[in-house]
Amino acid sequence: ASTPPDFDSLALPHVAALHAYTPGLQPTEPGWIKLNTNECPYPPSPAVAKAVAAELGADGAAGEVGAALRLYPEPTSAVLRAAIAAHHNTTLSAAGINGTSALRVANVCVGNGSDDILNLLVRCFCAEGAGQGSESGRAAGFTLPSYSLYPVLVGIANGQSIEIKFDRSMRLPLEQIASSGAAIFFLTSPNAPTGVGFSAAQIEALLAAYDGLLVVDEAYAPFAREDAVGLLARYPRLIVVRTFSKAYALAGIRVGYCLAHERVIALLDRVRDSYNVNRLSQAAALAALGDPQYYAHVIARVCATRDAALTRFAEQGWFCYPSQANFLFVEPRNGRGETGAAVAQAAYDFLRERRILVRHFPSPLTAPFLRITVGTDEQMLTLWHTLQEWLHHA
Ligand code: PMP
Repeated sequence: ASTPPDFDSLALPHVAALHAYTPGLQPTEPGWIKLNTNECPYPPSPAVAKAVAAELGADGAAGEVGAALRLYPEPTSAVLRAAIAAHHNTTLSAAGINGTSALRVANVCVGNGSDDILNLLVRCFCAEGAGQGSESGRAAGFTLPSYSLYPVLVGIANGQSIEIKFDRSMRLPLEQIASSGAAIFFLTSPNAPTGVGFSAAQIEALLAAYDGLLVVDEAYAPFAREDAVGLLARYPRLIVVRTFSKAYALAGIRVGYCLAHERVIALLDRVRDSYNVNRLSQAAALAALGDPQYYAHVIARVCATRDAALTRFAEQGWFCYPSQANFLFVEPRNGRGETGAAVAQAAYDFLRERRILVRHFPSPLTAPFLRITVGTDEQMLTLWHTLQEWLHHA
């Protein structure tokens, strides 16, 4: 056998230097209370499993089971795009936003999770080597903290990242974003990992002050009071990103999408994989959109559990951001009343030893906190009792 070459030196230098995104743990064995990756604690609508079975031919309707999998999926997810546009138009008119704002199929692009969409946006709008020479106007900006995939995607593109820090108040740093020089800015609203949501008026003020492309990553917007979809008709520089992973309980099926000006969508369609959303996923997402009552119920339940947990933490004297998402960002206080990175780490370890998984981010801004996904009421009660045990243990 010959010695393998030094692959790192064969790789492009920016690839060899990359730090990959660290996903939350996905234990394969049962028995965990999994509150670490913001999944939905309830199953998807029963219509989803039916639609997947029908797509597989497992419903006995016709042909051999699985026969449809011989064929590529419809390349543009056309039926799903139309259903997404229709879904948002229904929501907009229910909110009294008039018909001239209606979204069309040409305003929708669907991806293999919203991660795929974020990647396509970076591919289209973030220049290689930005900031290091003539392309200084094509850097990508985002806030700290926010979704830590953004810098990884920019790194893969060998582009330049511009980081704008929140302070502890989590007030929107509008002026700093406006003067950042970023060609494209990723704003997570509600923010991750804090859960703090920005109002449509705040997003509109940002659009007035900042003249680049503004991507509002609304992965958690179904749990929020407001979103930015109603601004799309008036602001062609706005791109709204959504996912089926959280509120639709379909993280395992990988479907996300964005709403944007049709010329932005046309660019994304040029750079995406031809068959970026598989057959089963298209069918599953379509079925989920067809059962709005079920999801209204699920979302209301998650929000009620969230608000009850928030109250409990406040009564305990633990600081927690007012979340508009399906998770809470809480600063644990130990039995001696202390907070900080070591305290949060100790709480994390205690929970993990008892098979409760939450998230702990090591950067200085986030280290004193734990991000806790909202589970079922029963799971949250177990979490609460375990945290009480931790308080009295040390
Ligand atoms: N945006 C944010 C803010 C997220 O937290 C996540 C999930 N980790 C995503 C996008 C990606 O979700 P998905 O690819 O499952 O659609």
